Amino acid sequence: MSTWPIGVFTSIDDGLGVHLDVVKELQIPTVHLHCPLPENRTEDHAKAYLDKAADAGFEASVLFSGFAGETYESIQRTAETVGIVPEGLRDARAAEYRTVSDFAKHIGCGVVGMHVGFVPGRDTDSYKNLIEVTQTLLDYVKDNGQNMHLETGQESAEHLLEFIGDVDRDNLFINFDPANMILYGTGDPIDALKKVGHLVRSIHCKDATWAAEDVRGTEWGAEVPLGEGDVGMETYLRTLKELGYEGPLTIEREIAHDPVRQKADIGTAVSLLEELRAKIG
Ligand code: MG
Repeated sequence: MSTWPIGVFTSIDDGLGVHLDVVKELQIPTVHLHCPLPENRTEDHAKAYLDKAADAGFEASVLFSGFAGETYESIQRTAETVGIVPEGLRDARAAEYRTVSDFAKHIGCGVVGMHVGFVPGRDTDSYKNLIEVTQTLLDYVKDNGQNMHLETGQESAEHLLEFIGDVDRDNLFINFDPANMILYGTGDPIDALKKVGHLVRSIHCKDATWAAEDVRGTEWGAEVPLGEGDVGMETYLRTLKELGYEGPLTIEREIAHDPVRQKADIGTAVSLLEELRAKIG
């Protein structure tokens, strides 16, 4: 594939991301896929998906997990419900994640992605256990011939690097989402990208505006159409180029409740990225 192919975040059956028909209509060649519901992670569903993807002309480069009970309604609720950090859910979700890795294998996708959750402080028992659980999971993922990409945003670049270093597995990398750094208030996205860039193997093109300074980190910033937020898309792409990143530019727009607007925003985002790619690339 050529450098910086345009991609979108989409899903098979859970209503997240851009509808598969829109992916086809816009002739998008590459997608990040949200995994199907647990009951649909079968070889038959994988075959059905692959037929659709072949017909539309796209391939999935990352399959992202999602768990029942996760909610992003506030930063606090996200911390309580997302990923394998919540202690009461950790073991069950780590076990369930194996079915995500297996489904990725069924569709021939060599990368699985995850919001691990808000990584706790390094001196806690929860952190030590999280390291062990993540290591076991990564070994399973490796047996399936896959790498894992962690989504950024829920911790600072420094803490993410500490965590990845402590996990100490050669199949753990980063999916960089600049808007999440702003939405969660965890740090300037370009500074963060420079710090973790050596581990970035996939990215999201998403934009956001900061929350007011006095509530940053406790209240959400606002996700906005690409190019209208505080990321600075040109600087973002120039920084990716400096880092030698050549993979897909995967657009993520989290307004699945409004498909008409979502489709329009994706169209505008594709144009913006094509323009910047021509200018910078
Ligand atoms: Mg993202």
